[in-house]
Amino acid sequence: MHLPEEYRSDMERLLGEDYPQFLASYDMPRRNGLRVNRLKISPEAFEKISPFELERIPWTDNGYYVDWRDQPARHPYYSAGLYYLQEPSAMAPAQILPVSPGDRVLDLCAAPGGKATELGARLAGGVPAQEGLLVANEISAQRARALLHNLELFGIANALVTNESPARLQERFPCYFDKILVDAPCSGEGMFRKDPSVMKAWSPEKVDACSAVQREILLSAADMLRPGGYMVYSTCTFAPQEDEMILLYLLSQRDDIELVPFPLSGGRESFSPAFDAGWLREAGFIEPGSALSEVDADLSGAVRIWPHRSGGEGHFTALLRKKEEDACGERTGKAAENRPSAAGTGNRTSAVRAGNKTSAARKGRAGSLTREEERYLGAFSERFLPGCEIDQNRLEIHDQKVYLTPAASSSMRSVAFLRNGLYLGEMKKNRFEPSQAFAMALPPGDGIRGRISFSPEDDQVLVYLRGGEVKLPQMKENGWYLVCVDGFQLGWGKLSGGTLKNKLLAAWRS
Ligand code: SAM
Repeated sequence: MHLPEEYRSDMERLLGEDYPQFLASYDMPRRNGLRVNRLKISPEAFEKISPFELERIPWTDNGYYVDWRDQPARHPYYSAGLYYLQEPSAMAPAQILPVSPGDRVLDLCAAPGGKATELGARLAGGVPAQEGLLVANEISAQRARALLHNLELFGIANALVTNESPARLQERFPCYFDKILVDAPCSGEGMFRKDPSVMKAWSPEKVDACSAVQREILLSAADMLRPGGYMVYSTCTFAPQEDEMILLYLLSQRDDIELVPFPLSGGRESFSPAFDAGWLREAGFIEPGSALSEVDADLSGAVRIWPHRSGGEGHFTALLRKKEEDACGERTGKAAENRPSAAGTGNRTSAVRAGNKTSAARKGRAGSLTREEERYLGAFSERFLPGCEIDQNRLEIHDQKVYLTPAASSSMRSVAFLRNGLYLGEMKKNRFEPSQAFAMALPPGDGIRGRISFSPEDDQVLVYLRGGEVKLPQMKENGWYLVCVDGFQLGWGKLSGGTLKNKLLAAWRS
């Protein structure tokens, strides 16, 4: 690879005697990763049914090296959301954020969802419980759509997908989140081997520009963290200006934030401690007289992943914590008093509260469902969620589209969002049409009435995934069916006279 001259000289300065080995890694084959979706299947169960050879990635409990020649993106299990294909080092940040069911979690720079899908799976807020809240934010509207698709594919039901700047979210959510992940936009030096176009876009000026953006983003994130909460900062770049020096900046600006020792035990040999402030000064990365020249902090808890020392690309990861006695209220002033409550409702919901059966015009109305609509939905969910009650207070309807909002949903006033919770489907005249997202969020399982399950080898699966009709002459009961592979749902079909009409959305077909 033709590496930029300035980049080479910076890397030589950083790596010293390791530099030749680092350079040699550019000629080595890359390793690819697959991460199991725990919302659908345990890693142990996946190992038993995996059509691919798997080798555990040592720093994860659900990630595996996989050979791309096995084409894992083409297997029906991929279409069923059983796994995400992710660069192995990129699995580390979500692994170290200690997410528990019921948490309020923010992924601030989330698209296309490599880490947000893992955070959502760890929250384990499936249908109908939907405990906890994942706010998955992406500043680019186009990338936010890809993020929404991946969250839906994974069956994550308790996500709020927003399209905002970090500063704007900070106004809305001061001291609100239990856990935050900041996978910052960066100059991407660790991805040169994976994607040479990133290298072409690299320049020393880009490093400086990214560094300025990262400082702003991380300060906003810190102010959204509740006292005692945890936050991960990660990049896929080697430049200390975007890694250690961002941490130093944050620690110099917020004395209620502390660095936590890196918590992973598996694969320790793949991680190197971050450079400390003294070394960065000596090596000339921190210039005398600059804002950071006097700042000192122990950074040994943060880690670097180097491609020549691990089975993955370059990454930087740090776990941070906000001390219990933080000054949230003082710093954020009035905004903290206005902190959204778990029971709050937003602009799309505030007009009509649950239980208030308004007679708003059908078209264009927003609010709760009428009794009749509840009945249509109830009949439908009885078939696919037997024995489970959907909390009517969390159902909302907008322009005939029905949503199930997360239990910990919060005020959406003045926040641009693509989705608040799970899109269940659409009310048509005298009936309910389920959505693809609803299909994916239902708990998997064999033997439930209304499911048709094929084996992955059955040609009918491929016909279905391509959008074709499936012939099932032996089946007599007409109506909606969940089409599954080995019990894991792929989407809907509607049976009539022995033919299953394909209801898989065009964008989901393969
Ligand atoms: N976490 C994602 C994943 O695992 O799939 C990858 C995130 S990527 C490294 C960084 C993201 O930050 C990009 O999606 C980019 O659009 C977004 N971004 C760019 N500029 C930003 C800004 N000023 N503030 C917040 N996010 C920004």
